[in-house]
Amino acid sequence: MREIKEIHIHCSATREGQAITADTIRRWHTSAPRNWSDIGYHYIIGFQGIEFGRPLHRSPASARGHNKHAAAICYIGGVDSNGKAKDTRTERQKELLIKIIKQLKAKYPKATIHGHRDLSPDKNKDGKIDQWEFMKMCPCFDAEAEYLEFQPDGFKPKSAAAQKAKKKAEAKTD
Ligand SMILES: [Zn+2]
Repeated sequence: MREIKEIHIHCSATREGQAITADTIRRWHTSAPRNWSDIGYHYIIGFQGIEFGRPLHRSPASARGHNKHAAAICYIGGVDSNGKAKDTRTERQKELLIKIIKQLKAKYPKATIHGHRDLSPDKNKDGKIDQWEFMKMCPCFDAEAEYLEFQPDGFKPKSAAAQKAKKKAEAKTD
């Protein structure tokens, strides 16, 4: 069994309220131009519940250079009615995201949690991923900061915003 070292959060980049299913994403991922063997993600967070995608023992198609030890979660949504990036998660989706993260962390306590965009290349090599460096906006919220309480000890966020949030949280507890 492969070890999970990173948990990646994605959005489907579909419009707010549009209820697509894992089957639709699977169709996108397994047809041209991608032609992947299966849906890229392990868990799909819809409006009603969780659907299972690629089996966890297989590496996802999640983020280049990060797939070998990753688990990939995708929530349905991520853009507004004009197609602009937006955190469209419903309360239910937020709960379900935490549910899966907790399940994975129970099994892989050292796993770190990242938004897809936090895995963008650090172009100016300053040790943080700033907004201008995001390759895409996915998952349209700051996952590293939002899930700070589930990150392992000594976690170093990649995103500039999460680094700031972590400093603030640490200053409060000191
Ligand atoms: Zn993504």
